[in-house]
Amino acid sequence: MAKLIEAPELEIKDHVEVDPHHTALIIVDVQNDFVHPKGALFGEEGPRIIEPCKRLLQMAREHGMFVAYTQDTHYEGDPEWAIWGEHCRKGTWGWEIASELQPQEGERVFEKVRYDGFYGTGLDHELRLRNIDTLIICGTVANICVHYTAASAGLRWYKIIHPVDAIAALSEFDRIAAFHQASWLFGATLTRSENIRVALPRPEQVS
Ligand code: ZN
Repeated sequence: MAKLIEAPELEIKDHVEVDPHHTALIIVDVQNDFVHPKGALFGEEGPRIIEPCKRLLQMAREHGMFVAYTQDTHYEGDPEWAIWGEHCRKGTWGWEIASELQPQEGERVFEKVRYDGFYGTGLDHELRLRNIDTLIICGTVANICVHYTAASAGLRWYKIIHPVDAIAALSEFDRIAAFHQASWLFGATLTRSENIRVALPRPEQVS
């Protein structure tokens, strides 16, 4: 029988301001294999996060924020397939980023081989070149690639913002555990996609 435990309360902020010059939007693994019903590792919540991710993307583009995508990428013989089965084989439809969130010119895609978007990729390098200190991290899924990318960002002292409606989870337990760990251990701010606002310039900066 399942053991019942009390879930910790999560604080979801209703107003978060970001500085567009030092904030990046990181869209983690919103690929057909994870968010499309025909995908190899489809999670039921996948389709629900498309609209919130689009909203964040629109905000980022309007304000010239740096946008980065991670793309889970595997080749024949990848040991991850022994755990999850075949998914995100490079070049396949399932590997592609969802059609609704196609990257535009100037946005960067980082092919990643593990759950962590920093591991073995140029993501940290590109963020540091742009003096970015705050990351809005969304995508799929809460306690795996989103969490390990956020944890890796936290270890590097980036500030983390998680728009919870733009992050798919496989279960309620996974969602609460991941967001609790991100906020409690790495100081992540939890909010909703519509509650993130771009900070207006201070009066002395207005010409
Ligand atoms: Zn994978």
